[in-house]
Amino acid sequence: MTEGSRVDVAIIGCGTTGLMLARLLAMEGLSVAAVDRSRIPIGFPRATHLDDETVRAFQTIGLQDLEKGFTPTATYRFYDADWRIVKEFVWSQGVTEQGWASDYQFYQPDWEAINRGYTEEDPNTSTYYGWTIVGLEDSGDDVDVTVRETSTSAETTFKASFVVGSDGANSPVRKLIGASQFDHQATHRQLIVDIHPLVGTERLPGRDAFIRGGIRNPFTYLMTAEPRLRFEEMLRPDDDAATFERSEHAYELIEPYLAPHEYRILRSDVYEWRSLTADPWRVGRVLLAGDAAHTMPPHLGQGACSGIRDATNLGWKLGRVVRGESPPELLDTYESERKPHVTTYTVLAAGMANEIESMETPAGATAGEHEVSEVEPVRPRMGPGVRADDSDEAAGRASAQPRLEGGELMDDVVGYRFALVGDPAVVGAIDPETTQLLGRLNVEVLDQYPPEMRAWTANLDTAAVLIRPDRYIFGSATTAAELDDLVGRLGASLNAPVSAS
Ligand SMILES: Cc1cc2nc3c(=O)[nH]c(=O)nc-3n(C[C@H](O)[C@H](O)[C@H](O)COP(=O)(O)OP(=O)(O)OC[C@H]3O[C@@H](n4cnc5c(N)ncnc54)[C@H](O)[C@@H]3O)c2cc1C
Repeated sequence: MTEGSRVDVAIIGCGTTGLMLARLLAMEGLSVAAVDRSRIPIGFPRATHLDDETVRAFQTIGLQDLEKGFTPTATYRFYDADWRIVKEFVWSQGVTEQGWASDYQFYQPDWEAINRGYTEEDPNTSTYYGWTIVGLEDSGDDVDVTVRETSTSAETTFKASFVVGSDGANSPVRKLIGASQFDHQATHRQLIVDIHPLVGTERLPGRDAFIRGGIRNPFTYLMTAEPRLRFEEMLRPDDDAATFERSEHAYELIEPYLAPHEYRILRSDVYEWRSLTADPWRVGRVLLAGDAAHTMPPHLGQGACSGIRDATNLGWKLGRVVRGESPPELLDTYESERKPHVTTYTVLAAGMANEIESMETPAGATAGEHEVSEVEPVRPRMGPGVRADDSDEAAGRASAQPRLEGGELMDDVVGYRFALVGDPAVVGAIDPETTQLLGRLNVEVLDQYPPEMRAWTANLDTAAVLIRPDRYIFGSATTAAELDDLVGRLGASLNAPVSAS
């Protein structure tokens, strides 16, 4: 791309959030500049856990085959200082209504490498890998984006209709737009040691993860992407990070399970988790996404998953606004919908981090007496925006992904667009005007009602469901008249979006 040229969207920061967004915008037919200060993907994982909704998002960008290489999770145990089990939960609910297993472990550097490769191959995407953001000038009509090559200090400026700062927790873009951050008061430091074992690991519990609390430095073990293993240690305020990061400390930590000559240390770093929510997420033509907009401790494994949800929410909206199908106000619904949703996870993860730090042996606990729980996936409702109001129980919730008559998953037929599914007796009885509006809004009307879909709509106590491209439910209807009204409201909210109700 030459000095002064123009793209629809500049993505600053190509971690999981930025790359997911780049792929979706390419599907929307937009021209994109993908900027990252790092020439190659970061070579060690931060995120390791993915949920079912996230793998469903990968399906949207055609990456479903990666799932075969993800590692399934098993049981999570919490021990006290004396190695008595305080509680344990089943960390895998099998395949859920999302069409994928509830939990996986993946290898982030490979995921980022694959998606960087796709951005490189996309004819409408220009990549600036090894370039850092230095300036944003929003004129109101577009944004002048100035980037500097880190190896040469060469600078270039190009224009973008919109800019998304997905440049991580220390986001320079967030600073450039002057957004503040709300602190949920859970700041902790944790040592992360990733290893690649070179021998069998019989003294460890395989895919079962555990935390040992009630000790000075709570200790965590988990298998990440097989065969890699992760050990974590929570630091106290007076612990010296440099001492914890030394290789001899890692060898000492892992000594009960493996001798130093039995593995390769992949990394040994102390992180400071913070629980922060930025405000606002949009200033003019510049938006924030992923860790730039919200950070949380990793105990729920939801940081990257939340950034992926930001991308799926933003992608179709940017597509509509850039094509002139919706006004720029549609972009305000990104924050009003996503912020309450991600804050549910942030508050939960912050609470867990605080609890683990203070985990004590429960009074009267004895070996073998502990609760084993099934963990229901946390599925917050998104905030107000492009959806029916709260009187519609289904609105704003993640849709299911039933299998269709031929056995294919619903999203594979729908693509990254709106869908109308439901009882043909209701869907087939709508007004011709509604049918025309569905066509203008590019809604895929599914002409089948297989048993899994029938069961899902029955469970929602409804007959038809309007699903958005990010797989969240716009609203539901039980009669053709209600459906006419619902589709009309979809059209209205895309043309004159209201971000708070
Ligand atoms: C140890 C650890 C474990 C975690 N475990 C999990 C987990 O199991 N599951 C989960 O969902 N989440 C987990 N998380 C959180 C998860 O890693 C983050 O939420 C996620 O990586 C955020 O993605 P992102 O793309 O928004 O930001 P990042 O991954 O931080 O990417 C930001 C990108 O911006 C680039 N950048 C930064 N500054 C500039 C600049 N000036 N100019 C241009 N580019 C720039 C960086 O090079 C980087 O590529 C974990 C985090 C840590 C640290």
